[in-house]
Amino acid sequence: MAQEKLKIAIQKSGRLHDGSVNLLKECGIDVVNGVNKLKAEANNFPLEVYFFRDDDIPQYVEDAVADIGIIGENVMYESNKKVVFVEELGFATCRLSIAVRKGEEYKSASYLNGKKIATSYPVLLQNFLDKNNVKAEIHEISGSVEIAPGIGLADAICDIVSSGSTLFMNGLQEAEMILKSRTVLIKNNKLSEEKENLLKKLLFRIQSVKKAKNNKYILLNAPNEKLKEIISLLPGMKSPTVLPLAEPGWSSVHSVLNENDFWEIIEKLKANGAQGILVVPIEKMIM
Ligand code: ATP
Ligand code: ZN
Repeated sequence: MAQEKLKIAIQKSGRLHDGSVNLLKECGIDVVNGVNKLKAEANNFPLEVYFFRDDDIPQYVEDAVADIGIIGENVMYESNKKVVFVEELGFATCRLSIAVRKGEEYKSASYLNGKKIATSYPVLLQNFLDKNNVKAEIHEISGSVEIAPGIGLADAICDIVSSGSTLFMNGLQEAEMILKSRTVLIKNNKLSEEKENLLKKLLFRIQSVKKAKNNKYILLNAPNEKLKEIISLLPGMKSPTVLPLAEPGWSSVHSVLNENDFWEIIEKLKANGAQGILVVPIEKMIM
């Protein structure tokens, strides 16, 4: 019997495309890509890659046209399809926010009572309005939402923001965030056992790549009389590696540091006499 292949849906072009392709590459999966093709094959993993508009991916995953997919949570929640969250992927994070004209005084959601709001996210916006007991008129438009207040189509908008520069250029200001949206991997809710196993393999690779990105390999020289203090500052995967240096009284210490604690620990290491500190990126981290 031919081996089953896992079918993944990613965005054909746009903000999620490169990140999705890169992630597969970092997982060691070679996708032989014909641009403008609907489908591509991986040649070293049983994976077929489908290229779709991101908004269509939840439906295709629900219908098992694709087994898994990469989309923003904004699209996942807006579409309301029966798909299962698998993993956060750590790129193209954004937020869905209410924005109003510059200079308007927005103190709380009640500002929106009786107003017209333009959005491509009617479901998420309505949820937000309901939660805050606000009655407003939603104008659903599919693109260029940010120009709606300028042309008198709406008083406010609800749209995706990342830097805020698009808002600024259109004379708008961000008033309230209604969803912090991460890019996520989703799956169909009835995968075969064989496909679940393939997904497990892929997920293991994704997690190794993510961990590696959040960590750095660190090498430093430590005077032996300070070794105890220095080692106590370093978490390491198990415990740090300590090797004697050719110069008497000194050791080389190797360990792994989390990005979040990085600068604080480096400062303490220096304060304790560590020298020649090298910090190296990690490609994969298998725990
Ligand atoms: P498609 O043709 O696939 O429908 P699109 O115009 O809907 O493309 P993009 O603008 O490429 O899509 O955005 C895709 C996703 O990228 C969004 O749904 C969101 O999750 C994420 N994203 C991250 N940053 C931003 C941003 N600044 N603006 C819009 N989307 C962003
Ligand atoms: Zn889209």
